[in-house]
Amino acid sequence: MKALCFNETLKLDTNYPEPKPGPEEVLVGVRLAGICATDLEIVKGYMGFRGVLGHEFVGTVVQGPRKWQGKRVVAEINCVCGRCEMCLRGLSNHCRRRTALGIEGRDGVFAERLAIPERNLHAVPDAVSDEQAVFVEPLAAAFQVVKQNPIEKRMRVAVVGSGRLGLLVAQVLQATGCELEVVGRNELTLNFCERRGIRTTPVGEVNPRADKDLVVECSGSPDGLDLAFKLLRPRGKLVLKSTYAGGAAINLAPVVIHEFDVQGSRCGPFPDAINALACGQVDVESMISRTVPLDRGVEAMAMAADPRYVKILLKMST
Ligand SMILES: [Zn+2]
Ligand SMILES: [Zn+2]
Repeated sequence: MKALCFNETLKLDTNYPEPKPGPEEVLVGVRLAGICATDLEIVKGYMGFRGVLGHEFVGTVVQGPRKWQGKRVVAEINCVCGRCEMCLRGLSNHCRRRTALGIEGRDGVFAERLAIPERNLHAVPDAVSDEQAVFVEPLAAAFQVVKQNPIEKRMRVAVVGSGRLGLLVAQVLQATGCELEVVGRNELTLNFCERRGIRTTPVGEVNPRADKDLVVECSGSPDGLDLAFKLLRPRGKLVLKSTYAGGAAINLAPVVIHEFDVQGSRCGPFPDAINALACGQVDVESMISRTVPLDRGVEAMAMAADPRYVKILLKMST
């Protein structure tokens, strides 16, 4: 089958071995996949991953138990053991033996087909199109911010970074009714926020007043982190959503001086994301810049790294 692989270089393999589902796994035909910052970081060396890239997708079950046959699905990216002490504590996203689709120890979704544990599947309701469903995974990650932090209306909240993830986090936060501001450097995506009634400030025009109760760092840059420190009030909470391939030198003194709470935030609840898409609470379709065939996957990855585009999707031929 065709697959977009990373092995020191990125290339389209037209003769990649067919995935073989293990016990309790199903075979899924990928319909549409999304390229995100994590994929771009992996190509720069993040996680030392080798194999088929990609983790955001919607597909159709082609082989598995009857109840899933032919069903349109999305799937959680962490493949877990269900037996280790993290799994038994209900923290299976932190399973000691986990693999993650296209990120760690397991082939991803930029391919015609993939094998995935049945337990990872979520059915996609008819009300959610393929173009929406492909955003379920990153939108779930955005919902994790409000899952970890109850947001009240009176709270002052900032999102630093108006990239793909920042736009999803901002929309999820907007629904809480909090006092929200998005700070970013991309005019295209700041306009996207403004059109949805979200207040924005270009990075160059920010006048940090150390008055935010909570700041979500989605820029993935050391500058963004630095700005987040300046926006937060003493004892405020900083939520880190970005993963960094480069080990940036960071001055943590502000965290101590102002007693900031620093929180890591990764994967989130799929059902919340699916519901938000089904009822139109979050607009993802206007984030799509281009849909590119898998055959042009290498080119699509370059487009995803270009700030003139927001979301790039890969369409599989099957
Ligand atoms: Zn992603
Ligand atoms: Zn486990």
